[in-house]
Amino acid sequence: MTWQASIGARPLQHSGTLSEQDMRSPYPTLLSPIRIGTHRLPNRIIMGSLHTRLENEPNAVARLATFYAARAKGRVSLITTGGVAPNEAGRIEDGAQVLDTAAKLHEHRPIVQAVHAHGTKIIMQVLHTGAYAKHDQIVAPSAIRSPINRRTPREMTTDEIEQTLEDFVRCAELARDAGYDGIELMGSEGYLLNQFVVLRTNQRTDEWGGSFARRIRFPVEIVRRTRQRLGPDFLMFYRLSVLDLVEGGLTGDEIDMLARAIEHAGIDVLTTGVGWHESTVPTIATAVPRAAFAFASQRLKNAVSVPVVASNRINMPETAEAILASGQADLVSLARPFLADPEFVNKVIQSRAADINTCIGCNQACLDRIFSGEVASCLVNPKACHEDEFPDGPATTARRLVVVGAGPAGLACAVAAAERGHQVVLYEAQDAIGGQLNLARRIPGKEQEFAELIRYYGRRLEQAGVDVRLGTAATADALGEQDFDHIVIATGTRPRGLELPGVEHAKVTHYADLILGHATAGQRVAIIGAGGVGHDVAELLTAPDTRAQTVPEFLQYWGVDTDLRGPGGLTLPKPERSPRQVTLFQRGTGKAGASLGKSTGWIHRVRLGRRGVGHIGGCVYHGIDDHGLHYSIDGKRQLARVDTIVLCAGQEPVRELARSLRVSRASVHVIGGARLATGLDAMRAIDEGTRLAYAI
Ligand code: SF4
Repeated sequence: MTWQASIGARPLQHSGTLSEQDMRSPYPTLLSPIRIGTHRLPNRIIMGSLHTRLENEPNAVARLATFYAARAKGRVSLITTGGVAPNEAGRIEDGAQVLDTAAKLHEHRPIVQAVHAHGTKIIMQVLHTGAYAKHDQIVAPSAIRSPINRRTPREMTTDEIEQTLEDFVRCAELARDAGYDGIELMGSEGYLLNQFVVLRTNQRTDEWGGSFARRIRFPVEIVRRTRQRLGPDFLMFYRLSVLDLVEGGLTGDEIDMLARAIEHAGIDVLTTGVGWHESTVPTIATAVPRAAFAFASQRLKNAVSVPVVASNRINMPETAEAILASGQADLVSLARPFLADPEFVNKVIQSRAADINTCIGCNQACLDRIFSGEVASCLVNPKACHEDEFPDGPATTARRLVVVGAGPAGLACAVAAAERGHQVVLYEAQDAIGGQLNLARRIPGKEQEFAELIRYYGRRLEQAGVDVRLGTAATADALGEQDFDHIVIATGTRPRGLELPGVEHAKVTHYADLILGHATAGQRVAIIGAGGVGHDVAELLTAPDTRAQTVPEFLQYWGVDTDLRGPGGLTLPKPERSPRQVTLFQRGTGKAGASLGKSTGWIHRVRLGRRGVGHIGGCVYHGIDDHGLHYSIDGKRQLARVDTIVLCAGQEPVRELARSLRVSRASVHVIGGARLATGLDAMRAIDEGTRLAYAI
């Protein structure tokens, strides 16, 4: 008899009838209640676990409580905390949270209370990182180094395995004592529980290794003992790797067997994870189509009776509703979308999807910051994890502001200032808002999400009552004539020129002209500059198709076997041909795209590599003529015979207006690319604009 059967609590697919309001909602399934274990959730959107690194900060508990309370206030039905280790060996790094003694309960109780105050449930994720740990006590089932870690783990002894099992159970008991409604056992993304179940990382010959039944004993035993010790009312989620995406990973049949064993041992809900961290298939980046991995949740749902939660690239309610309505899962787990918009669920309930600040999957302010040892935030919402730096409520004194430039910096400043009660006029010389975002949304794979960001700012401008003057170039005289208290210059950047003989040749074009379709490229192309813009241009020029990849195309392209017949769900990737021969040139000798995000740069490099895009570093450029680009490396002259040369050699600030302002009474602020073009991206632009609005 399974645990579920023993308490007669077969989870409801719809507990209770839909209210009239639910029926009218475009998201009736998403907003319908569901029973999990002995608990009931009012809707089917849960917040997945996020590592914020707030725990490493001064005042960590208060900041975490504020962070989670903001999401609870937004009416998400259940929150999963960031991973908490059951013992010291299991922590990801020094300073990470470990819950192994009652003396640490004070680190959790304020968080639980802050969330419960809004009627939201909260479970604590128990995470043992095993071979992924970044400290010297690193242990794993076998002494096999992960390809993404420079440390080699020590093989756990049988006594240590027994002790670790007890540590997991003790950690769950302490979580209950802290007031959590339950736990989620982290069994995906390649952490310790995963490491036990596959031969790739478990080559033990004792009772914890060898056959499949022995390899899955460790996670199953944790579930069994925890359920036995904590009783029926304590929620137990297990995050199962439904697709390992690594060589030697589990097959579909093995995943089903593991899922059933865990269900039998007493789990209430199966959440899902896709891909180990060392996988070379992208799973959460912008380039991954929405709901690309819902098929794997569907597979799992066919194998078990407990509710199954879909995850990965579910960032808007219509995507979530489609997954649930088609029966691919019972709930959806969103993590990064709650960094982007803590009010996500409230907006869904109020049928205001157009007001959602959409997570664009960039990873820039969340994962990339974590990898750099910083506190996470969000590119589209700089308040995330920094809530206490942006106080609620209006500004003390309402001011008259003019913002010049409706790119990301200007937009962020204009909307936040207007929402704080300032009277804001926004000038934009172009006929549309967005600035550089309008370039980003023309790059294959980025179209949908960057269009969402522009849509979001459009809505906020409207709702905040900003006086938007499109197609109007602000002049110093015009600004001087008006009685503004503050003038914000957010005029952005322009492509930087290059001092080079022949740079005016007809073969040469600037990246912005090419991206906007004002110029075209021939068959053979040299791109000067191998940074982020150079890579985007290479993507644009080598994409075999002008439309975004569909889910099946994406899965075939990266070699994902949706039937999971072989280990890890991998198959041979589909080859791709570029319509052009493209080479990236750079002066530096480092690797191409070294400045790209840690969590996404490799995707560009793999894709461009497969399309045959070349890279030549350490170049000294000599000139451009009818033959092409002349350059030398180590003093040896070379010629790249190309039809088109695209200049992606950086940007320079547009500051003419700022320089010409002679306004004595107003304060002038220069932000975004107009302040500093070097290293500019949307993350810095939005952050600067928002912070300025809160400083006025
Ligand atoms: Fe999403 Fe990017 Fe924000 Fe991360 S930084 S939550 S990926 S929008």
